[in-house]
Amino acid sequence: MKLRICHLYPELLNLYGDRGNLLVLRRRAEWRGIQVEISWVSLGDPLDPKNYDLFFLGGGPDQEQGIVAQDLIVKGPYLKEALARGAALLAICGGYQLLGRYYRTASGQVFSGVGLFPVYTIAGDKRLKGNIAIKVEDLSIPRPVVGFENHMGRTYLEASEEGHRPLGRVLFGYGNNGVDGTEGCLYGRAIGTYLHGPLLAKNPHLADYILSLALEGRYGQVELMPLPGDEMEWRAHEAFFHRFFKGKR
Ligand code: GLN
Repeated sequence: MKLRICHLYPELLNLYGDRGNLLVLRRRAEWRGIQVEISWVSLGDPLDPKNYDLFFLGGGPDQEQGIVAQDLIVKGPYLKEALARGAALLAICGGYQLLGRYYRTASGQVFSGVGLFPVYTIAGDKRLKGNIAIKVEDLSIPRPVVGFENHMGRTYLEASEEGHRPLGRVLFGYGNNGVDGTEGCLYGRAIGTYLHGPLLAKNPHLADYILSLALEGRYGQVELMPLPGDEMEWRAHEAFFHRFFKGKR
């Protein structure tokens, strides 16, 4: 098996080392004998929807988002076609916002989004930042997903019948908007989330979920071989969870 990953705008959307997530996915696939190919696609590059099984977009400041937004208008239809063909997607924070309907910044600029996720984002006046834990239903291991968030934007899921839902429920932290207890968006095989940085390094269950989504689109149902232990990963997860959240329940 081979997994073909498209890293979109790697030089513009990469806050907090978001690209670390691709290193994790690569390793976890290779440990199971699955080959991985990562391609960088950025401003002005063509996007062939047939070439990829998984798309990745990191987060970024408003200024970089403005540059990316213009290019995404061109790539949007190809991205949607790839997803309709079965590809998966992971978009973090600024990338997630740009795949919604629009993002209105604190200075009033409006960046049109791709409309891939039925969500919209409006900046508030206080930054939503800190550590976060969420509960995600679909994971095979029932442990929370832990991470870090830092955003001005408040994202709201539209109440349409489009088959989308929040990625998870906030246990601690802010999530989509700090009010309704939702975090991220899951739409088909596409995941948008506010959880930044090397998220998948300390959430092996989420990493494998994303790998399965990406491989299933191309190969049908796949059974991912369990990795022995994941001891380091779970130790990082535990340390994070206990350090920040123990006793706050
Ligand atoms: N600029 C966006 C915001 O502040 C996204 C930031 C990010 O990707 N961390 O909401």
